[in-house]
Amino acid sequence: MLKIGLTGGIGSGKTTVARIFELLGIPVYYADAAAKTIMNEDESLKVLIKKHFGEAAYTGGVLNRVYISSIVFQNKEKLALLNSLVHPATIRAAEKWMQLQDAAYVIKEAALIFESGSQEGLDLVIGVYAPRQLRMLRTIRRDNISRDEVIKRMSSQVNEELKMKLCDFVLYNDEQKLLIPQVIALHERLLVLSSGKG
Ligand code: ATP
Repeated sequence: MLKIGLTGGIGSGKTTVARIFELLGIPVYYADAAAKTIMNEDESLKVLIKKHFGEAAYTGGVLNRVYISSIVFQNKEKLALLNSLVHPATIRAAEKWMQLQDAAYVIKEAALIFESGSQEGLDLVIGVYAPRQLRMLRTIRRDNISRDEVIKRMSSQVNEELKMKLCDFVLYNDEQKLLIPQVIALHERLLVLSSGKG
């Protein structure tokens, strides 16, 4: 069974693409969503986060997102520190989940794949590309946040063009090329590759 990563910048359309793969019968692990649960449930991780970010990081045992965001989106080193604590736990959980699946291939969707080193446990990586302006517009609309807030979040991610160069396949979600036919064509290619005929 092939293990496939799916990545892209904020608002590129990773989750949208992942849902299409799910409709095609492919199991998807949503690593960013899983990380949020893990940060609330993994007791040893909670201890580490409190040690580095203070007791205020949790309110009644639940991660105080506003507090944590106010720290990490202002400070790249703090963001790197938080990621270095959370990523190993998320990578382990994804590995465990992937082993339980029974499919031609499985997908792990995550904003940070190369940055966290998790590509090492994956056979191939798919990138979802959209131009920066379009990503900004989508994120502002989806999250109802300001342009400045999106710029702040984007500044913590590596250059998109560079990231796409590291991917084995790139899907263009730029509203120029139709997205669904690209996903279906890639799905067919991955089925062939996973059957060992590719
Ligand atoms: P993030 O990393 O911020 O979670 P993402 O890469 O998972 O973002 P999505 O949530 O899939 O991105 O897409 C961002 C927003 O753009 C969503 O509201 C989604 O519905 C919309 N969107 C994505 N692709 C398209 C498209 N081709 N046409 C119209 N809207 C789109």
